[in-house]
Amino acid sequence: MSRCAWIGFDLDYTLAIYHQRQMDELSIEATVNKLLARGYPDFITELDYPIDFPIRGLLVDKNLGNVLKLNRFKVVRRGYHGLQELSRSELRGLYYAKKLRHKSSRYHWIDTLYALSEACMFVSIVTGFDSRGQKVNYRRLFDDIRECIDLAHRDGAILGPVMAAPARYIERDPRLAATLHKLRSAGKRLFLLTNSHWDYAESVLRYLLDGALPDYPSFQHYFDALIVAAHKPRFFEQREPLMMLSGGQLSPAELPLERGKVYSGGNLRSLQRALGVTGNRVLYVGDHIYGDMVRSKKDSAWRTAMVIPELAAEVEALGECSEDYGRTSEVYQQRYELEDQLRYHQHRLKLLSRNNGGADHRDDRAAAEEVARAKELHATVRKQLRVLNREAKALRTRVNARFHPYWGSLLKQGNELSLFGHQVAEYACIYTSRVSNLLSYSPHQYFRSPHNLMHHEL
Ligand SMILES: [Mg+2]
Repeated sequence: MSRCAWIGFDLDYTLAIYHQRQMDELSIEATVNKLLARGYPDFITELDYPIDFPIRGLLVDKNLGNVLKLNRFKVVRRGYHGLQELSRSELRGLYYAKKLRHKSSRYHWIDTLYALSEACMFVSIVTGFDSRGQKVNYRRLFDDIRECIDLAHRDGAILGPVMAAPARYIERDPRLAATLHKLRSAGKRLFLLTNSHWDYAESVLRYLLDGALPDYPSFQHYFDALIVAAHKPRFFEQREPLMMLSGGQLSPAELPLERGKVYSGGNLRSLQRALGVTGNRVLYVGDHIYGDMVRSKKDSAWRTAMVIPELAAEVEALGECSEDYGRTSEVYQQRYELEDQLRYHQHRLKLLSRNNGGADHRDDRAAAEEVARAKELHATVRKQLRVLNREAKALRTRVNARFHPYWGSLLKQGNELSLFGHQVAEYACIYTSRVSNLLSYSPHQYFRSPHNLMHHEL
């Protein structure tokens, strides 16, 4: 952290932690209204939308009406058609024969907390049509949901209510102001870089920071530069000009940037030039795995901190599972040993039956007894293995349920990282559940990664 001269913050779901349930209910209601206007049947107003269904990192298969969780090798490990879980063999039949082209238009990533409501609506409406025996084009349905949610964001159906009653939708973290102050006191300079528009950003920041600390008359005093409408991830790749926003009018930004003024758009290079900083001295804090983390890591030298609000629940579940994890590794070890024994008995049986088939010098009875004994041992080991496998499955189910009722852990899939977890590990230098956790560390903290072992080193 001592190398980071500038610390940039995204706004939505980073500085502003939304109450997920309230936000989802708001966007579902707004979207349902727009779908009705597009001619969708009335039953969609009566459906139960299970807000706890989706997690980040899911892949929507628009062609088949499925929602999928992949591991870090991009192999589908869990899936639902609508709200109906798909079995392992169904998944194998659908997704294992050919390489899954997750970047094609058939698929869509649920990669932000905003997008959870899209997945929730999709599975619920798919089930609604299926259970009524009505045919629907799943792909059209998903695209309609996406368009309607986007429209609801643009026309104020979602942002309007949030601005009117921020306390209902946004958590005012009491430690946020102190965190920003601590960073500033250590000589860091702070900037805001958000895709939100100024009127919205202003009202959210006012709610979060105004009046929090006596030394800061308004939220603007925490930041050395304010950039809105940044169009991430394009911001990192393209060359949009940095503009100054004043009285609703845009004009080309003049350097140096003025504190207290608001800037709009821009791009990575123009911002670094304006701040007078090289990329390796910038830490950017965001929540969007693609727009904030992947793109900034691929296109810039910025260090990244990812805010993962779900981490709090994930860590809690991890603690509750410690006994089960202990038992699971015992079960795996025993299974490993039994599988070894099973192979030995199988091999022995094969040899015995081959010898019996030929002209054997021993008498038939002794040979038959030996075969019977070998069969019995073989059967015993198989039975023990079955019992162990059942236990392993029960442990897995119990562990998964502690993390999430539908998908298990956000960051893991079985013994592997989930695809989402893999992206976090790959693109976020550090990750935490909320910005204010930084208050517990020195602004010069050196965050070290644990020693990374390859399998041959274990
Ligand atoms: Mg965000």
